[in-house]
Amino acid sequence: MTAQIIDGKAFAATVRAKVADHVARIKEAQNITPGLAVVLVGDDPASEVYVRSKGKLTVEVGMNSYEHRLPAETAEADLLALIEQLNADSDVHGILVQLPLPKHLDESLVINAIAPEKDVDGFHISNVGRLATGQKAMVPCTPLGCLMMLRDHLGSLSGLNAVVIGRSNIVGKPMAQLLLGDSCTVTVAHSRTKDLADVVRRADIVVAAVGRAEFVPGDWIKKGATVIDVGINRVAAPEKGEGKSRLVGDVNYAQAAQNAGAITPVPGGVGPMTIACLLANTLTACCRAHGLAEPK
Ligand code: NDP
Repeated sequence: MTAQIIDGKAFAATVRAKVADHVARIKEAQNITPGLAVVLVGDDPASEVYVRSKGKLTVEVGMNSYEHRLPAETAEADLLALIEQLNADSDVHGILVQLPLPKHLDESLVINAIAPEKDVDGFHISNVGRLATGQKAMVPCTPLGCLMMLRDHLGSLSGLNAVVIGRSNIVGKPMAQLLLGDSCTVTVAHSRTKDLADVVRRADIVVAAVGRAEFVPGDWIKKGATVIDVGINRVAAPEKGEGKSRLVGDVNYAQAAQNAGAITPVPGGVGPMTIACLLANTLTACCRAHGLAEPK
């Protein structure tokens, strides 16, 4: 059996096209342009790349992009003052503070300073609580993208056994909440889980968010299971030349594809969906702010 490839890149393009279409309609009918403000503190090269591509895609779907670049030594009070200003700005519907922040800044203090209705990353404590209690929330982009791919591929997830490997606040925990919301029987595995191989072998859905290159071998995957690989790991690729590297996921793709019914590739799986969901969340925030019908 060779797994069907879940093409996150193509799916993300359709999500962005729908967002662009909706943005065009509200511009035309209401004269409102959704706006996303991204705050980058310091000059972490990976964050720099993410912020640039977020800005580019925001503009591509017809939204306004506001980038705020602050020096690494920015005082907490100054960052909080900027967030306050963005909270009060009616042209800004979504606010994203790029993580990680430099060490001297208190991440949860900063995130919880964002107005929850503009918290398009879904990390504010109020959105975390709302998601956990099944209330309308801003949902974290990466797990939301995973859920959309699962629903698109499987239809109803009701009653399926799902294993999430990883319990981080940004991926593992919200992913588990979303799967529970769709009536899966959810197991959350982590570094202390016993007999992880057996736990994963029972799963109809495997979401791997571990942060270790090709950590999940193919023989852990049940025949026909759906595998969502969140991991992004850079490994050496001497076959491409000296000093070259390539990206791999948390799942051994070549092996897992022999057992899985469907699997997301890395790159081209979860990654593109994350940014598409950020744009979708910004549009949702804008519609909620103006009392307009929300995108489906
Ligand atoms: P974290 O490092 O915050 O969490 C990793 C989790 O994996 C932890 O819960 C940890 O357990 C668990 N873990 C580590 N080692 C093992 C092990 N040996 N067995 C079982 N579980 C283990 O990572 P993130 O959640 O932030 O990210 C996970 C991956 O997803 C990374 O590769 C990251 O780059 C990628 N990512 C991709 C995104 C995308 O857009 N595609 C977005 C965000 C992240 P414990 O809690 O016990 O330490």
